[in-house]
Amino acid sequence: MSYDYDLFVIGAGSGGVRAARMASSYGAKVAIAEERYLGGTCVNVGCVPKKLFSYAAHVSSEVHNAASLGWNIEKPTLHWPTLRDNKTREIERLNGVYQNILGNAEVEIIRGHAKLVGPNQVAINGKQYSCKHILLAVGGWPYLPDIPGAELGISSNEIFYLDKLPEKAVVVGGGYIACEFASILNGLGVATTQLYRRDLFLRGFDTEIREILAEEMRREGVDIRFNSNPARIDKQGDQLQVTLESGEILDTELVLFATGRKPLLEGLGLDTVDVALNDKGYIAVNEQFETTQPGIYALGDVTGGIELTPVALAEGMTLAANLFNGEQRRMDYEHIATAIFSHPNVATVGLSEEEALARYGKVDVYTSRFRHLKHTLGDHQGKVFLKLLVDHASQKVVGAHMLGDEAAEVIQGMAIALKMGATKADFDATVGIHPSVAEEFVTMRSATRTRESA
Ligand code: NDP
Repeated sequence: MSYDYDLFVIGAGSGGVRAARMASSYGAKVAIAEERYLGGTCVNVGCVPKKLFSYAAHVSSEVHNAASLGWNIEKPTLHWPTLRDNKTREIERLNGVYQNILGNAEVEIIRGHAKLVGPNQVAINGKQYSCKHILLAVGGWPYLPDIPGAELGISSNEIFYLDKLPEKAVVVGGGYIACEFASILNGLGVATTQLYRRDLFLRGFDTEIREILAEEMRREGVDIRFNSNPARIDKQGDQLQVTLESGEILDTELVLFATGRKPLLEGLGLDTVDVALNDKGYIAVNEQFETTQPGIYALGDVTGGIELTPVALAEGMTLAANLFNGEQRRMDYEHIATAIFSHPNVATVGLSEEEALARYGKVDVYTSRFRHLKHTLGDHQGKVFLKLLVDHASQKVVGAHMLGDEAAEVIQGMAIALKMGATKADFDATVGIHPSVAEEFVTMRSATRTRESA
């Protein structure tokens, strides 16, 4: 049977674009549908603009420290519209880059809302196409809790386009986005309160690094409140009033909900096919990204796995290679490094201390916390923190964590070492770069503690 397309991709985000390009490079006839912006969350309202804002937010502390290095810089002021609009111009440039990349790869871009209308059928802009394979790469969308006045708050979609930067803001949540934006707003000069409903944010990460991050973010000026959650939001003139579950009231100008994301399934036509969802409401897939409907695949955030752009890219390449290049690749989800671009940055690869202990039973823990050389002439008391977790029996390094400037840049290299199975002896045999923070990873000679599970 002949089809209009070998592969029809719904969603031109990180995973969808990569799968489409790779499939086309293997000779498949490919279309990609997008109703919003090319590049998806990461390019438009995620990783890229967030990192640009994070650079901007670092400037205030750099300028503060500059005085100790002899520079006389007058008190800097931020012109928010310049930052916002420069960022938007760059994002629009990237949208164009994506358009060109897809065009050069001979992928047909169809703008509009695509929906499934049967197992091998997609409808868009009043037309229907037959497709041998369909890939659902529609990503996720911010989730706002169901409390009175939630609509008065905004999500990470809107924070990038504010008309005016507020003087005060409340950030709700304790995940990546909440920690990043609490730090960014604070660095941009906004008096920022972060509310998290449990006793320590970044659930799932190494406990020690979570505790130190809370301490350092507080030192930077974020008013972090654990065991704190909004019960309702009310409008009071042009201000907002956040009533906490404790009854306390906070006056603010802006509430940012960073309370997680949900798969973007609305209007996708899932009722016309046999695509099952998992117990968390994401599209269920097997190791080969097959849904329960033959010929329909899904990957990236809509499947609720590890919601990171590089993971979606790798998944897209794996699927395309398997479908159109006769390969039998499998994704390896071990040792995926990740960073939280809070201030200070946190980056990590491998296991947390808690996970290492549970998996290996006996673990050598190496830690080092010290003041960055660049701060030693000034009054900044913040400290960097590095941590290695070593399986006591095999001496393999099973986790590396860092808190401090450019932690992501350092941990990316560590990820190669861990992926290759490096032992603590391999780290010890590596000569450091002096003076650097990263050298500490190869000079931590004696364990801070050895822990054994009960
Ligand atoms: P996360 O799932 O990381 O965090 C959501 C947070 O919101 C959690 O702290 C959660 O608390 C809290 N929460 C959930 N529901 C409620 C509620 N009803 N009321 C109050 N608090 C609530 O989601 P994010 O939105 O921060 O990020 C989504 C994903 O995007 C991340 O998981 C990550 O994979 C990716 N991302 C990656 C980045 C990077 O690589 N640097 C940057 C930003 C996002 P609890 O712990 O109790 O569940």
